[in-house]
Order: sequence, then C-alpha cells, then structure tokens
Amino acid sequence: PGAIGLNGDGQPTTLGVMGGGQLGRMFVQAAQIMGYFTVVLDPDVISPAGLVSHHHIQTDYLDPQGLVQLMQRCAAITTEFENVPAGALVTLGAARPTAPSADAVAIAQDRIQEKAHLARSGVPVAPYAVIESAADLAAVADDLLPGILKTARLGYDGKGQVRVGTRAELAAAWKALKGVPCVLEKMLPLAAECSVIVARGWNGECVHFAPQRNLHRQGILAVTQAYEENMPLALSQQAVEAAKNIANELHYVGVLCVEFFVLTEGSPERASLGALVVNEMAPRPHNSGHYTLDACDLSQFDLQVRTLAGLPLVQPRQHSAAVMLNLLGDLWVNGVTPRWNAVLALPGVHLHLYGKLQANKGRKMGHLTVTAASAAQANATALQAASLLG
Ligand code: ADP
Ligand code: MG
Repeated sequence: PGAIGLNGDGQPTTLGVMGGGQLGRMFVQAAQIMGYFTVVLDPDVISPAGLVSHHHIQTDYLDPQGLVQLMQRCAAITTEFENVPAGALVTLGAARPTAPSADAVAIAQDRIQEKAHLARSGVPVAPYAVIESAADLAAVADDLLPGILKTARLGYDGKGQVRVGTRAELAAAWKALKGVPCVLEKMLPLAAECSVIVARGWNGECVHFAPQRNLHRQGILAVTQAYEENMPLALSQQAVEAAKNIANELHYVGVLCVEFFVLTEGSPERASLGALVVNEMAPRPHNSGHYTLDACDLSQFDLQVRTLAGLPLVQPRQHSAAVMLNLLGDLWVNGVTPRWNAVLALPGVHLHLYGKLQANKGRKMGHLTVTAASAAQANATALQAASLLG
C-alpha cells in the first residue's frame, strides 16, 4: 500500500477487483484516473467492469489459476460484489493486501452472522429470530409476526424474502425457501430509510458521507436524496456514529455502507421520524452512494481506491444537493427508447450507463444524478426527469 504511479520496475501499479459489475466498473474508472492499471476477475465474457479494465481475467471466482494471475498482476485487491466466495479472499489475502478482508465479507454475506456482529457493535437491530430447524420455527415468539422471513445468504434487491402474517404463512414460507437457514424479522413501521457510507483505512482512520435517504420500489432502490435537510442533525450524527462503530468493530478496511430504518413515531396521522434501527451492511460501495460521483469532491469509489492503495483519507465534502434515480431495464424492455434528449436538456443532469447489453426488468442498467444548488431545485428537476422517463 502507498504505491502510486510507476513502481520500482518502471511499471504502473496495478489494482485488482473481484467482480465485474457496475460497482467494479466505477472503481476501475476512479483507479484509472489516478494512473493505476486495473484487473477485473469475473467469469462473464462481457461485464460492465471487464469492458473498461486494462485486463479481464475470465475465470470463476474460485479458479486457482485465475486467482494466481490476479495476485501476480496486482499490488492490492478489492471486491465489488458481496457474494464473492470468502475462500477466494482468504487465498488472495495471504499473498496481497486485500480489502475488505475475507472475515468482514463473510460476516456481511450471512444475515445470521451479520446480526450477531451488529449486536456486538452496540447498535439496535429489528427484533428477530434465527430459523435453522423445525424446532426454531416452533419456538418463534408470536410478537415477531407480522414479519419478514429472509434467507441468511444470497439475498439482494428484496430477493429471498417473504412477508408473513401468521405462523401458518411462516411455516409455508420457510418450506418454499427449501428450509435453508433464515432470519425472521419483525415488520417495523418505517418512516424512512437511509444509509451511511464510511471509508476506513489500514490505520483505522475513518471518514464518512452524510446519511442519504433512500426510497425503494419492489425491494429495489429507486431514488436517493442526498442533502442536509434530509434528516434532523441528531439522527444524522447517530447514524454516522453507528456506521463507524460497526466498521471499527470489524477492523474493516475499505468502503462500507450501512443501511438504516427510521421508525415511525406517534400516531399514523401525526407520524414523525423516530428511532434508528440498523437494517444491514454492504462490504463495498453502494448504489445509494452513486451521487457522490457528481455531488462530492471525493466519490465513494475515490475513497475505495485510496483505502485499498493505502493513500491518505480526507473527509469528503458535498458541494451540491443531489437526487439519484436508478435506471432499470424496465425502461427499455418494451422496445421504446427513453427520451434522453429531453432528460439531458435539464440542468444538472449526469447520466451514467453501465454498458450492459441486455435490458431485463429490474436490472440496474445505469443511474442519473441531478445536482443543484438547493434541495428543492434538485427534487424539482429529478421529478421532471422521472416523468420524461415514464
Ligand atoms: P436486501 O438485501 O434485498 O436489500 P433488505 O433486508 O434490505 O434486503 O430488505 C429490503 C427492503 O425491504 C428494505 O429496504 C425495506 O424497505 C423492507 N424491509 C426489510 N426488512 C424490513 C422490516 N423488518 N420491517 C419493514 N420493512 C422491511
Ligand atoms: Mg437492503
């Protein structure tokens, strides 16, 4: 770590990433701006990051030859995809600085371990029960219902989750999930959802972005609103502190996103923002942090490069209010071209497309960030953009 530009052999220092998705693509792009060569390991012949990287190793994540090639070419290695097998990170970590570590990723990959870690970090989580056996199922307390049954592993964008109201529904849902280890969470009344992104270095130094508010549709992030007026200051501070505690407790190195629920307080008619509860964490940059590319002096990907390369971390400064809209494959599936000319004619619109060649419903194809001098202006322009996109 600490290498930048040409190394001792007169070759550019090379950084590697496990995973070829859009997060890897934006990492690669940030690394290249600083003069790094990049290597992506992803089995897909065509991947968003593989398309823009200097080199693409097309093997399975656990292929020994692929991992050796990655180690030989790279000074340090990161990951963009939390389901990269932890075993691959163990192998890489033995030979090269690898961040985040296999341990941290293994915890974030498994909701059961994740919940235990969150409890160790002293942050509040939704009431829950682990369900690994018929006995666990029978022992579930009534007050966890209605709840959400979530598979312990491999869930994302709301996949691997079933909402259940009764014990019978719970039993049927667990059976439908093939009896895999699960977590049942009590359904909480949400006033809002937000996330905090922190970057922590090898020396334990930690910087953060202010909490952003997230709106989901069908379990997929749809909109992120990033500006100060988002949340009362006390709640913001609490969220940042919780995220830093979680990162410190993990001895985390790299970019970490922590997602929160803000519970509804008071009666339904006069609901307000209440207590903060940690939902989950992602051991990588996050979709809710994409606005940092356009609205901050350092993006979450710049910080990923800096943490990995052991470069100084500086507290990022947001210079514009921002609203991010995800662009899902649904926009293209009916063969209709979105009205890009009209969208791009709006002020402060930054279009990011990930180079995916196949548009499917619910697939993240790109995003659009609106930056503006005020939150009101960013929201107004984002509304116009959204209505043009239909
Ligand atoms: P994923 O890994 O798919 O992002 P999450 O656990 O974050 O899964 O759940 C997806 C969404 O479902 C959340 O962003 C939230 O809107 C809703 N949700 C999840 N858990 C709860 C809960 N305990 N109470 C209320 N809503 C929830
Ligand atoms: Mg989530």
